[in-house]
Amino acid sequence: MVPTYYYGLLRQVDIADSMKSIISHEARHSWQFTLKLIDGLTDADDDALFQNPPASSPELRDAAYPINPEFNFLGEASQDLGSSAVTAREWNAERFASLNVGGALSCAPISWSTVTYGGTPLQVTGQLTFVDDSGAAVPLAGVLVRIEKRAVGVQCDTPSGWTLLGYTSTAGDGWASYPLPSSGVYRFTLVPPRECGSLVVSSCATVP
Ligand SMILES: [Zn+2]
Repeated sequence: MVPTYYYGLLRQVDIADSMKSIISHEARHSWQFTLKLIDGLTDADDDALFQNPPASSPELRDAAYPINPEFNFLGEASQDLGSSAVTAREWNAERFASLNVGGALSCAPISWSTVTYGGTPLQVTGQLTFVDDSGAAVPLAGVLVRIEKRAVGVQCDTPSGWTLLGYTSTAGDGWASYPLPSSGVYRFTLVPPRECGSLVVSSCATVP
């Protein structure tokens, strides 16, 4: 078995199946781009995300979380470009390869760098990484992050009472940021891939 870490997913692939697996993954990308041209699915903003994707591919739905179970897309009125849309396509391709060739999917070990604040305009920022086969921390792009707030002095692991401010997602370099409206404790929580189950990776920054 070869462990493969990919966009925050961990997959154990039989060495004999590696080439089949790559072909399957790349074939799924080809299929993704036929959905509008050949299958006529609605993609008014031409971002390769769909109003009603096939049931097998809920991550490709062009809608806000939680209608899309893993991403916070803008809907058919505006294009979603960049890392979130790419991550949705990659998770979809990897899930297809796993179903088609075998190799169960689970979570890569994911963690936040220190969440801090600064910059102009003032923002809270943090970097999401996962550990690759060599033990190195690799930036995790395109992952949905929930931002919540409580009063200064509240501990990050307090389970309830947080106010939802909104969602952001990690960029190509793994960094996520969110504008700071006022002082408080800001909590970043990863909305994980479905395979991660109840995993929640949270970190906080206190802004006095
Ligand atoms: Zn791919």
